[in-house]
Amino acid sequence: MRVLVVEDDALLGDAIQAGLKQSGYAVDWMKDGVSADLALATEPYAAVVLDLGLPRLAGLEVLRRLRGRGASIPVLILTARDAVEDRIGGLDAGADDYLLKPFDMGELAARLRALIRRAGGKVDLLLQVAGISLDPAAHRVQYQDKPVELSPKEFALLHALMLNAGRVMSRAQLEEQLYAWGEEVESNAVEVHIHHLRRKLFPGLIETIRGVGYLISADKAA
Ligand code: CA
Repeated sequence: MRVLVVEDDALLGDAIQAGLKQSGYAVDWMKDGVSADLALATEPYAAVVLDLGLPRLAGLEVLRRLRGRGASIPVLILTARDAVEDRIGGLDAGADDYLLKPFDMGELAARLRALIRRAGGKVDLLLQVAGISLDPAAHRVQYQDKPVELSPKEFALLHALMLNAGRVMSRAQLEEQLYAWGEEVESNAVEVHIHHLRRKLFPGLIETIRGVGYLISADKAA
């Protein structure tokens, strides 16, 4: 799951990026409004954490342009405790939620999960396909009621495939879920992680559709 963080404060941005990576997200971090606007116009993100006070282009304007393009992705704004009018302006411009600085990283991660879940129309916290259950909040996977240990990237890959059960995902789409900008993409990483998932779960779980991508069938049985 790939998210965008827009924050010009280096310490705070760094902390948010680290915290969300810890929660299993691939995180792109932009430090000004113009870069954020460009990234949002070109990259598919699952959600945005948007500071309002930004250099080059105000956060509120980034948000207006985003909604002006008809994009419905969830936006969580960060505002100062005393800036009530900023919060009102942000919500009016199409933000879905806000947090007051300073905030707890755990709360930020929980609110993002809730926003992404709602945006996907998913009320069920637990994903269940083919005898596998995946709990995004607890970062836990069980197969036939037994816990399975996965690396963060294996987890992210399985999460993306289960969210899209029954649909083929291309290697490029899967790489987008795994890597943030500037992170080096290892050449056959997707194949390697899929190999590990098949070994840790069961061989026929993930189908390779030659020349197209990968798929977990919605009705696949172990
Ligand atoms: Ca700021």
